[in-house]
Amino acid sequence: MNGTVIAVDGPAAAGKGTLARRLAATLGLPYLDTGLLYRAVGRRVLDDGADPRDATQAETAARSLTPDDLQRSDLRGPMADMAASAVAAIPAVRAALLDFQRAFGRDRGAVLDGRDIGTVVFPEAAVKLFVTASVQERARRRFLELRGRGVAADAAQVEAEIRDRDAQDANRPVAPLKPAADALTLDTTALDAEAAFAAALAMVRGRLGNAPD
Ligand code: C5P
Repeated sequence: MNGTVIAVDGPAAAGKGTLARRLAATLGLPYLDTGLLYRAVGRRVLDDGADPRDATQAETAARSLTPDDLQRSDLRGPMADMAASAVAAIPAVRAALLDFQRAFGRDRGAVLDGRDIGTVVFPEAAVKLFVTASVQERARRRFLELRGRGVAADAAQVEAEIRDRDAQDANRPVAPLKPAADALTLDTTALDAEAAFAAALAMVRGRLGNAPD
């Protein structure tokens, strides 16, 4: 399995992080949540009192990112979501984060989740999954997740924010959210976490040429 790269892309709150982490553990591969990189950049720009759409500020933050930035406890939540999506639309930010992502997967292989892993970061990945679900289902899951973390949330607002972020991620000119031509699409709308994982693992094994369990 060494050297195998598995790309897991998809829109916000589709469950790709949970799936990717489990795939990595099952296959013995390192795991990288690439959304965290953009979240950490967005947070640093907000810390400086700047606008996450400011290309100069955002590029400076991306170039000086440290491992500690990825450990922050405030990388999740509506403000971090939108700041991440704003900095992610800036080409210089994406360029600054590309080497790190490629180096992470290059030697030992890895499972990476994000928006452009199969299209830009690892176009030669052995397996590409595009994990999606209806916007209503994704909003429902995000709402429950926020509530579970004790964050006050309004269901309609959570759905509106997911729609905004989908639009921003899919319509940006650089590395827009879209399935790679050779990606396998997994729609998890009607699947619980176990069923989604079983389906994803079967897809990965099918692509890698191993017989399913
Ligand atoms: O995956 P997550 O929701 O944590 O990502 C946060 C934001 O970071 C996304 O809305 C997207 O704008 C950006 N992102 C990206 N490319 C990636 C991963 C995340 O543009 N590979």
